[in-house]
Amino acid sequence: MHIIEIIQKKRDKKDLSKQEIDYVISQYTQDALPDYQMASFLMATCINGMSDQETSWLTDAMLYSGEVIKHNNGDIPLIDKHSTGGVGDKITIPLAPAIAALGIKVPSIAGRGLGHTGGTLDKLESIPGFSTNLSINQYKDQIERVGCVIMGQTKEIAPADKKIYALRDVTGTVPSIPLISASIMSKKLAEGIDGLVLDVKFGLGAFMREIPQARALARAMVAIGTHMGKKVTAYLTNMDQPLGDMLGNALEIIESIEILQGKGPKDSVELTVELGAEMLRLGNKANSLEEGRLLVRQSLSSGRAFNKFVEMCEAQGGDVRFIHEPQRLLRARKTIAIEANKAGYIEKLDCLAFGMALGVLGGGRCQLTDVINPGVGIKMHAKVGDFIEKNEPICTVYADDKGIEEAKGRITSAINIVEIPIMKPAICHERITAH
Ligand code: URA
Repeated sequence: MHIIEIIQKKRDKKDLSKQEIDYVISQYTQDALPDYQMASFLMATCINGMSDQETSWLTDAMLYSGEVIKHNNGDIPLIDKHSTGGVGDKITIPLAPAIAALGIKVPSIAGRGLGHTGGTLDKLESIPGFSTNLSINQYKDQIERVGCVIMGQTKEIAPADKKIYALRDVTGTVPSIPLISASIMSKKLAEGIDGLVLDVKFGLGAFMREIPQARALARAMVAIGTHMGKKVTAYLTNMDQPLGDMLGNALEIIESIEILQGKGPKDSVELTVELGAEMLRLGNKANSLEEGRLLVRQSLSSGRAFNKFVEMCEAQGGDVRFIHEPQRLLRARKTIAIEANKAGYIEKLDCLAFGMALGVLGGGRCQLTDVINPGVGIKMHAKVGDFIEKNEPICTVYADDKGIEEAKGRITSAINIVEIPIMKPAICHERITAH
């Protein structure tokens, strides 16, 4: 096998064989392929795509780059959730404990910030001491004892995705149906799950801008999971504007805690409840989505979800004093209000621009080695459809010294205010399931 020939084949829009795909993935995972050749392969794939067959081989190659976990869970179903990534999307953090508190095991292997989108692991690591780096034995043990875990890929679990994901983040090769499908499904299948709920984003802040692309991605992932004998449902959800009120790593932990305490903004709560209801249905803990929604709401309002979150944080070394007093996570030195330049209805809050603004403040990565500043972020005071008076704050920027002027510019040009009333967009658009 010759790597240059494989790259040229993809560049020339030709289909690769299973052996060629296996070769690229195994060589890169074993550090036998340099980043520049892998980046070139990823860019060719990003531009020219892959057939369904190639995508399925790619998923297999990435899945079997490591172990597929076997759990001692008896009859208790293992169901996970994964999102394709967005701005302000912290839902895994309240959802995993809320569902674990209802008797389903949630063995979540999550990701870091990718492109302009935030990452669940980066958010959790803003809790002092919280470790997302567990061994397989710690992972299995925590699932048995606590019922939920949120951690990163390891050398043993989907190691190919761990390396490729980081490289895609800094080479502009994220928005690709085969690459996203294989990335998500390889690490989810490696978890040894029975079922999976996928949150596939569409809109200005999503990797898939248009609904038909998001639908194609959702169908590709549902097909891969179903083919592997898993129960998989995908939701298409709106990412035109940021999700929830808090954006940025520490701020999103604060919002997650609010949701876990039965509070939180309407859109974040609705999505937590909706995805949770489907997890309960796939895990046979609810007979219908309606029953599932009720159970998730009870888990959040009764304190059971919050207590489970505290248990999960303790198990992963997090300092739970910050969970009980989340305001202590607010470490940014400056706050800057962005005010409305006229009165009217908010028509647009360009999600991509908000994600980029977070990045320039230091909340995301531009290079593999960049260290994230967990304290920076943006707090929304108004969302699409809300009426706002002139000079009222639309959002507050939490910053240290980096990128303030650029972030302000990006946010200001991301906002559009009009005179006529605007409908508030629905969060869930469509549900695609084979079960
Ligand atoms: N989430 C992932 O895990 N992988 C991707 O490629 C995109 C979002």
